Amino acid sequence: MTPAELGPIIEVRDLSVRFSGKLVLNHLNLDIRRNERLAVIGPSGSGKTTFLRCLNRLNDLQHDFTHTGQILLDGKNIYAPEVNPARLRRRIGMVYAVPVPLPGSVYDNLVYGPKLAGVQSRDDLEELVESSLRAAFLWEEVKDRLRMSARDLSGGQQQRMCLARVLALKPDVMVLDEPCSGLDPISTAEIEDALLELKSSHAIVLVTNNTKQAGRASDRTAFFLMGELIEVGDTGCLFTNPVDQRTNDYLVGQFG
Ligand code: ADP
Ligand code: MG
Repeated sequence: MTPAELGPIIEVRDLSVRFSGKLVLNHLNLDIRRNERLAVIGPSGSGKTTFLRCLNRLNDLQHDFTHTGQILLDGKNIYAPEVNPARLRRRIGMVYAVPVPLPGSVYDNLVYGPKLAGVQSRDDLEELVESSLRAAFLWEEVKDRLRMSARDLSGGQQQRMCLARVLALKPDVMVLDEPCSGLDPISTAEIEDALLELKSSHAIVLVTNNTKQAGRASDRTAFFLMGELIEVGDTGCLFTNPVDQRTNDYLVGQFG
């Protein structure tokens, strides 16, 4: 069956989010397709991070968080009582703006999650380490130094290691929150190259404060403004021919 026939992997239906009663996401409707890179753009405070943190239920940890509406993953409500949030978070892997290596070696960083998830065999762990580092375009640089401290990697390498660490858990969806905001252009390009390869096996949601990156590194783009999804569409079309004036104003840099 083709991905199109399988339908979207995530369906966001009429999602509204409040923190302490303050509306932060307003009646959001959005599908995330299999094998696509969806960029989410919008000015600071528009709800991009909150949206990502709904997809893996990280907002649940916030005592003043409330929501209405639904998020379906493969057709099943992720907020249903039988859903185990820890297992959900392995399916929806998250990469943050600032890479946070765990203490210990590159190898330790890679096997930490899989071991917690029950992978025990040394061969299986080694296979996971290699395949994840390859998928994150880092293997060639570290294959002879897996026991080096992760903190001795460069910033760009640390971010690719964080990507690999998430991939080692074999997620279905990768969500990345401004993953290149602290990186130089070469390191940024390496992450973007990795995402291009990864979309053949994952859905990718890339929040970026850099509209040029959205233009380069996504298939569709969603524009958020003050908690609302203003428009979503094919990246080429949205950038050249936005439907909404506010999208146009943001893209030409009138605000941001
Ligand atoms: P973005 O990632 O687009 O910059 P955020 O999702 O971080 O936006 O924030 C959207 C709005 O929600 C902002 O007004 C922010 O202040 C508010 N917000 C985010 N997290 C919390 C929280 N834990 N408690 C209260 N308000 C929050
Ligand atoms: Mg944010």
